[in-house]
Amino acid sequence: MKNAQCKKCLYKFFKKDIYTIQQFQYRKKPTYKWSLGFFKKLEIDEWDSFCEKCIMFYSKKSIDAWKKLKV
Ligand SMILES: [Zn+2]
Repeated sequence: MKNAQCKKCLYKFFKKDIYTIQQFQYRKKPTYKWSLGFFKKLEIDEWDSFCEKCIMFYSKKSIDAWKKLKV
């Protein structure tokens, strides 16, 4: 049963396919601490579920925001 739902696009999928922003702790930059702060402003926490497409969207969005900050 597809019982997980993406917080952003509301797409339903299997629980094993859930992505969360916790995966960003493996990125070197931006730091995870910075990422958490960034997502907090978007009202996203570590336990929100996303589909693969949306987590990629947020990954890019956060990297873009980080780069702007550094320039
Ligand atoms: Zn989604």
